[in-house]
Amino acid sequence: MEHIINGKALSASLKEEMRLRIVELEAQYGRKPHLVVIIVGDNPASRSYVTGKIKAAAVVGMDSTLVELPEDVSEQELLGKISELNADEGVDGILVQLPLPKHINEDRVIDAIALEKDVDGFHPGNVARLWLGRPCIVPCTPKGIMAMIDSTGVDIKGKKAVVVGRSNIVGKPVAKLLLDRNATVTIAHSRTADLPAVCREADILVAAVGRPQMIGADMIKPGAVVIDVGINRIPCIKPDGTPGSRLVGDVDFDAASAVAGFITPVPGGVGPMTITMLMQNTIECFLARQ
Ligand code: NAP
Repeated sequence: MEHIINGKALSASLKEEMRLRIVELEAQYGRKPHLVVIIVGDNPASRSYVTGKIKAAAVVGMDSTLVELPEDVSEQELLGKISELNADEGVDGILVQLPLPKHINEDRVIDAIALEKDVDGFHPGNVARLWLGRPCIVPCTPKGIMAMIDSTGVDIKGKKAVVVGRSNIVGKPVAKLLLDRNATVTIAHSRTADLPAVCREADILVAAVGRPQMIGADMIKPGAVVIDVGINRIPCIKPDGTPGSRLVGDVDFDAASAVAGFITPVPGGVGPMTITMLMQNTIECFLARQ
């Protein structure tokens, strides 16, 4: 179905472009972009995200290093590692996989990453620059969402965009990026009155909530571009009849895809694009540091 925005295919073609670019960069500068990913502890979800990031780095041909620290590492030791990487001329991007164990203050950790190596775009300096309209490192998920909307050929200018969710990592930054592209933007959240009516106004609807399939067909304007950021695991019965689980988004995909003009699937939508934009950000950090 051509109205499905295939994040996997889009990611694959962007990664191939990056792979070729990195070959050129190495020839020109004598080294490749280098991403360092830090994981603390052994949370299975974090472990799988980190593995995906290191694999993507290999696919595009950039250097990557995984720094694995034990669950009980002190905040001081983690900050020490970050400051070592900040000073390392051979490192272009530093990502600390979140969440961190409770005894570590995440804000202090994010603040410690050098602004020019903050490939997640979570440092307050980058957030301020984004909202001031200055050049900055754009967070990966919102950046991937914009690339997916652009891939539809729909002109964002003048459209009504509704973003459901106001997190610092998705909802707020994607709303700002849509505003920058001259959409008229509404940010909805858990206290929004009559959410279905608000969503039905949207030419572009971004769902970043974390509630399985909460956006139904009755909340979608016919022809709208629907971007489903949610990743939710729900129970299911496997083909062999045993209980299992599967991933679904915040949108009821089967019902919504009959109404939407364009829609992203879960899995295979925003998820792969997030990782691809991390590669893009690392290349941009590399170039900015030359
Ligand atoms: P978050 O920090 O938990 O924020 C969720 C937002 O949804 C909050 O703003 C909350 O409103 C709002 N919300 C909760 N219940 C609601 C309801 N019934 N009606 C309307 N709004 C409601 O979430 P997040 O970090 O942005 O993540 C959202 C989802 O995206 C999660 O499933 C996450 O796993 C997924 N995600 C995916 C990617 C990816 O690469 N695909 C990346 C990041 C996140 P309040 O502010 O009023 O509480």
